Amino acid sequence: MTTTSSLIELSKRSHDIAPLKPPVDPVSLQHANLLELPDFRRIPAYADVTDEQFMDHRWQAKKSITRPDKLLDTLRGMVSDDFIRDATEGFARAPMSVRVSPYMLSLIDWNDPYGDPLRTQFIPLASRFLPDHPKLGLDSLHERADAPVPGLTHRYADKALFLPLDTCPVYCRFCTRSYAVGIDTEEVEKTHFKVDEERWKRAYAYIASRPELEDIVVSGGDAYNLRPEQLGAIGETLLRMPNIQRIRLATKGPAVMPQKILTDDEWIDAVTRTVELGRKLHKEVVIHTHFNHPNEITGVTRDAMNKLFERGITVRNQSVLQRGVNDTPETMKLLVKRLGHVHVHPYYVYIHDLVRGVEDLRTTLATGLTIEKHVRGSTAGFNTPTFVVDAPGGGGKRDAHSFEHYDRTTGISVFEAPSVKPGQRYTYFDPIDQLPAEGRARWADPAEHQKMIDEALQASR
Ligand SMILES: *Cc1c(COP(=O)(O)O)cnc(C)c1O
Ligand code: SF4
Repeated sequence: MTTTSSLIELSKRSHDIAPLKPPVDPVSLQHANLLELPDFRRIPAYADVTDEQFMDHRWQAKKSITRPDKLLDTLRGMVSDDFIRDATEGFARAPMSVRVSPYMLSLIDWNDPYGDPLRTQFIPLASRFLPDHPKLGLDSLHERADAPVPGLTHRYADKALFLPLDTCPVYCRFCTRSYAVGIDTEEVEKTHFKVDEERWKRAYAYIASRPELEDIVVSGGDAYNLRPEQLGAIGETLLRMPNIQRIRLATKGPAVMPQKILTDDEWIDAVTRTVELGRKLHKEVVIHTHFNHPNEITGVTRDAMNKLFERGITVRNQSVLQRGVNDTPETMKLLVKRLGHVHVHPYYVYIHDLVRGVEDLRTTLATGLTIEKHVRGSTAGFNTPTFVVDAPGGGGKRDAHSFEHYDRTTGISVFEAPSVKPGQRYTYFDPIDQLPAEGRARWADPAEHQKMIDEALQASR
């Protein structure tokens, strides 16, 4: 029997027991302390917005800002003119599309826009730009090279990545798929994966023809932007294939617009029906999402995740390790604990891919290894993410600790992927500005580049 009084009795008694552990540091309970509702009315443009409007996904989608000048107009009066100039120039240089939800904007601390971890992810600043790494190429993961059908990447033995569309509820600076998602920018001519039923049919035909494929990641773009009937049709088509056992619906939505889960009944019911059909067919359908910072998790998130939890829908999270966002043990531990608290399983933390125009966001592999050491042991093992490097050139995801060789001076690490591409070696490159002086000097000399890579490959044998 656990009535309140018997619990109080128990806790009193526990004081009589010799204290093995000191009393808890309140900092360690911070993860459960959520901001209930962002203070959106402090943004002048939202001063007259009601709570009800703010909680409505239609309002969030309609008011999402897709043009840099509009975004900066919204911020005028809250940030300095210098910041506006810096961001205007940042957008002009960035190879990305712009879309930010009012929810995200209202979570940013506009008293400190330079230091805010959410601003850092969505609004580029010219003053922070660093030159790209010389070994960086667009589509560094070779998703297009491993695609038997446009928008379907089959790299691993039993799983494939299906990109039914190329739009997202927001656009992230660090997106690995900046080769495909969003509209063309001045910097990048993109390969588009529009909603196109003919292309989908070719993808389905391929998936059905490969008995080894059991697991499909439906990504994009973002499943949030699929209409309910499209989502249902994709889910049902895949679930009816005898070879398919698992589907993941990938969406950043819960992190940037949790309102949709609470107020878009048609969409969330389509997800629920797909999960239930899967369950009836003894197949797993889950959501994979993408939180990067503890400030992205609010009372709205908790309510949305509880709704999914009540419906028995599993949610896993994949984060990207980013400099100035989540690259300290404290922040990453808080994120991981807070995710667990709202019933989201931390699955992966990616060491930042080599992506154009965001060198200021990348960290070294060594930073990731240090953070992993601190995170492991701070909570349940099943809520402890694996830190991975998605090996450039198509080697796939590798445990960050599993390098064959890592030279912290040149920042070159070497990985193998025997079950993905046997016999091949893959190199990952730390951002040059984070290297010791000797490493920076060698990268400054193009004649050294291949030599450094050869040295690393030699040392890895
Ligand atoms: C990440 C990824 C997957 C899924 O990999 P998991 O390690 O199972 O999460 C599948 N296909 C491609 C091409 C991917 O990049
Ligand atoms: S939501 Fe995902 S796919 Fe879309 S821009 Fe962000 S990281 Fe890229």
